[in-house]
This record gives sequence, structure tokens and C-alpha cells, in this order.
Amino acid sequence: MSRQEVSPLKWLLVSVILLNMPIRPVVPFPADRPGGRGNATSQSSSQSTSQSQLPSGPQIRAALDWFAAHRAWIDDEQARLTEIPAPSFQESERAAAVKVLLSAVGLEVSTDKAGNVTGLLRGATDKEIVILSAHLDTVFPAGSDVKVHRDKTRMTAPGISDNGAGLAALVAVARALHEARIQPQRTILFVANVGEEGEGDLRGVRYLFESGAWSDRINAFVSFDGPDVERITNAAIGSRRYRATFRGLGGHSWGDFGVANPVNALGKVVSILSRYPAPAKPRTTFNVGKISGGTGTNVIPVEASMDVDLRSEAGDELQRLDAFFRRALRQVVDEENRFAR
Ligand SMILES: [Zn+2]
Repeated sequence: MSRQEVSPLKWLLVSVILLNMPIRPVVPFPADRPGGRGNATSQSSSQSTSQSQLPSGPQIRAALDWFAAHRAWIDDEQARLTEIPAPSFQESERAAAVKVLLSAVGLEVSTDKAGNVTGLLRGATDKEIVILSAHLDTVFPAGSDVKVHRDKTRMTAPGISDNGAGLAALVAVARALHEARIQPQRTILFVANVGEEGEGDLRGVRYLFESGAWSDRINAFVSFDGPDVERITNAAIGSRRYRATFRGLGGHSWGDFGVANPVNALGKVVSILSRYPAPAKPRTTFNVGKISGGTGTNVIPVEASMDVDLRSEAGDELQRLDAFFRRALRQVVDEENRFAR
């Protein structure tokens, strides 16, 4: 064998795939309302939320009263929008329907390059804007029967909750503000966004934040998703997901002993990572969730890979952990190559 002639770096290579996935924790909403959680169904409810922290005044009162007086309209719009099929990447017909509703209450409507429908309600200032959003798309493929079935106050259909309920809330809030003649302090951008589900990979919201006309002025972002009001998600956890793959030349366990071994390298990285001093506050975690590689006892593996999940409540902690992990990968690969015979 003439493997000694191969440059050491080629003996073992590491490739890393970054799998990014947003994680959404939920925190309990201060509980003052009973009621079941909806799943594939949506149910009208007449309970009202605690208003102690809301601004008061006759216009606010009028906007809140509007909801009670227009429950039937809200339900009808929820059903009508739900019955317009909108799998991810095929949201345009439902988008057009929402656009009509937002336009009818005097918003400046448009459709952006991603396909999001936006409706602008100008406030006293537009230095900072607040986005209220609901996603248009559903997980149900084209051809699904999306007919809404009604039984008294109960409506049932694929997507009636997620996100027929969110879209109905979006247009209802726009209409309530309009009819109560509320001019907000900050400009509000109502958004019915595309591509939230699965393969859509949040493309609509990504566009808003990356290249939307208002991307540099977004002060707050509220998403209406599904029918639940018992829990509000109010924070995000940063997460990085990697698949690290180590590759070597492989060989026979006896005859080629000394060749850089991808499984050895993987094991060393796991060992280093497992000793990382992750702080409890801000909560920071890591996990090697899956390892694979190799073909048999007497075969030096050609490849080994590991799936790694890194998370933190704090951006700088996530950055630190991420750098530590990447440094471990480089160190171990160097070391494994250096000691290869
Ligand atoms: Zn949803």
C-alpha cells in the first residue's frame, strides 16, 4: 500500500451541513379563560380576555365591542377562506381573497415579491412598525376536501384552525380598528404571509425581515396561528443543527491499521463536546442525537457522521457553543491526520 504518499489532509475530511430550524417555546398566558384546545376543529367562544393591560377609552371599547357584534361575520370569513385551497406555494387564490378584505377596510394593500399580501394602517409615526400576521398556507395537499362542516357553533374542516382561525383574526382586527376609527401610534402592517408550513420554510416571513419594504423598521411581530388563546409564544430560542460527516480512506483493520479513522474522530468530538460547560442561565444545551457510520468489525470505516443540536436562550452563548463545536471538529481532524501512520 502506498497511502503514506497521500497528503495527510486528504486522509480525513470533515464536512458539516448546517440544518437551521427555529424552535418556538410557549409560555402560559395568564390564565383567566377556561375552554378546550382546538385541534382540527374550531369553536366559537364568548369569553373575553382580561383587559386590564389594554389601553382604555371609547374607541378601544368600540373596537372590542365590534368583535362581540360580528361573531357571525368572523365565522363566515373563517369558513370561506378555509374553503379556498392554499397548500404551500399555491396560496395565490386565498391571498387574493384576503387582499380584498384588507382593502375593504381602507388599508394600503399590495402583494410583495414573495407573494405575501400586506395592508398598511398608517400610525402617527412610521419610524417603527408593528406587524400583525397570519399565514395563508396549509399542510393539506392540493385536491384535499376542504369543505367546512358546521354543527351549531362548531366548524370542522382541514385547516379551519391552522390557519383559517388566524386569517379570520387578522382581517377581524383590521376591520375592528377601521370601524372604531382608531389611528394607532405606530404604523401597523397587516400581513397574510406565504410559505409558513413545512417546505415553505417560513419563506414569506423571511422575505419580510430580509428584503421587505419595512424590514429595517419592524419593532414588533405578532403572528396569529391556530385558534388557541390559552398560550402565547413570546420568545425564541436560537438553535443550530449540524450533520458533521468525517471521511477517510478506509481499509482493513489489521492490514491498514494506522489509517485515519472517521469513527475515532467522531468519538473524540463527542467526548470534547460532552464536557462543554454549558451555562444553566441563559439556558444553553447541546445534544449528539444520532451517530452512524462503518460497515463491519474488521473494516476501517470510510465514513462516520453525527447529528448535533445546539441551543441557547442567548445569542452570544449560542455563538460561543457553536465556535467551540467547530473548533473541536478542526482540532480532532488535524490530530487524527497527524497521528495517522
Ligand atoms: Zn400554523
